[in-house]
Amino acid sequence: MSSDQKGLSTAQLRAELASNLLPCTSQPELFFEPDTSDRFGEAPAVRTLRERSAKVLCDTCSARAMCLELAVREQPVAGVWGGLTADELRYRKAA
Ligand code: SF4
Repeated sequence: MSSDQKGLSTAQLRAELASNLLPCTSQPELFFEPDTSDRFGEAPAVRTLRERSAKVLCDTCSARAMCLELAVREQPVAGVWGGLTADELRYRKAA
């Protein structure tokens, strides 16, 4: 990760991301688990495929470094951010 992102405030990171055309905005269903409260939850194989598909889009995203920096700071509880799942972000912060 470039040190450029680390020098930006959280508000600046949010503003920069908001000004970009982000791949995740066109397919948000790939980035978050569907509401499965009336069923048994997302099947593990389906979740793996969905998250891998989201990560492929993150790999093409010009804002990935900023997104990842913001996610590392904010530690979202769900979703794929900057190419990592919320669980992976927690492990990254702990390492
Ligand atoms: S890197 Fe971030 S902004 Fe870009 S597609 Fe992935 S989640 Fe969206």
